Amino acid sequence: MKIAFFDSKAYDEEFFSPYLDKNTKMKFFETKLNEDTVSLANGYNVVCVFVNDDVNAAVIDKLCEYGVKLIALRCAGYNNVDLKHASGKIGVVRVPAYSPYAVAEHTMALLLTMVRNTHKAYVRTKSFNFSLSGLLGFDLYGKKIGIIGTGKIGGIFGGICKGFGMKVLAYDKFPNGALDFEYTSLDRIFDECDIISLHCPLTEETYHLIDKQSINSMKKGVIIVNTSRGALINAESLLEGIKSKKIGGACLDVYEEESELFFEDNSDLIVNDDTLALLMTMPNVLVTSHQAFFTKEALSNIAETTVQNIKEYLENGSCINEVQ
Ligand code: NAD
Repeated sequence: MKIAFFDSKAYDEEFFSPYLDKNTKMKFFETKLNEDTVSLANGYNVVCVFVNDDVNAAVIDKLCEYGVKLIALRCAGYNNVDLKHASGKIGVVRVPAYSPYAVAEHTMALLLTMVRNTHKAYVRTKSFNFSLSGLLGFDLYGKKIGIIGTGKIGGIFGGICKGFGMKVLAYDKFPNGALDFEYTSLDRIFDECDIISLHCPLTEETYHLIDKQSINSMKKGVIIVNTSRGALINAESLLEGIKSKKIGGACLDVYEEESELFFEDNSDLIVNDDTLALLMTMPNVLVTSHQAFFTKEALSNIAETTVQNIKEYLENGSCINEVQ
């Protein structure tokens, strides 16, 4: 096996190395895969890519020309690969699930931080400011949370909320009878919930699910949590909702225009996104950089499944985790 990893970080090498033997030639490129960098894949039979690599038709043609047999995504989503163009030319595999607990636990971490202001307290106490002024929070116990999307992550997160004594209302296009949640309409969730957490996929149907209209129908002071996909929320409407104080807080692990910014250190750059810049100035907006998945367990599962996928595909010409 000769694998070229793109958009790789030191932790990718650390977590993949135990699963690969010395007969495997691997190279970890920091650069993203795109038309300018695809020549680096020459001489490899597998490229291993992540969420922001651009595997478009031109890149796929070049990969085929170089004899690359497989595009191995080390993530669940595959919206960055031109699947139609790849079909019949090159294999595409992915990691459908790695640790729903990682994402569900991070969701609760964000929510707890928001409602107890630990992000502010951390900074203050570093400079020996032990004042409690401005740190007043509220109990999660007894609050009503609306969970939109009760799949692997939403289901686990709802269970965590129940452990806190919260009342869970749920909405899913395909409700899961095995979960002990009260399923209801989206309208009732918007109308009644103190907290709304998004766990559905980004589709045409869910694009901008949270917009001006839905925000208008929410309770004043609602906390919105998004650890799913950025474009579930219209960021402009969110900002308006924060400014008008209709929204009491926003916890965002994902952002609509994150692809050029997240996962990188942009601290020396002038960021050209006024909406994000304004959101970041708000004391009740908490942003993490798409890190909900980022646990040792999840990275280890991603590496293990990716290597299994590659071996299975190269041996059999097919794989259970193939995307078609
Ligand atoms: P999943 O497929 O197990 O669950 C998704 C649920 O959403 C399903 O129950 C499905 O029926 C439901 N759904 C589909 N369309 C819907 C609609 N229109 N309205 C309401 N519900 C709908 O997925 P999962 O593993 O639980 O992941 C959920 C989301 O979390 C993913 O789509 C992904 O975008 C995101 N995610 C984020 C991170 C991160 O690091 N922040 C990591 C992994 C996944």
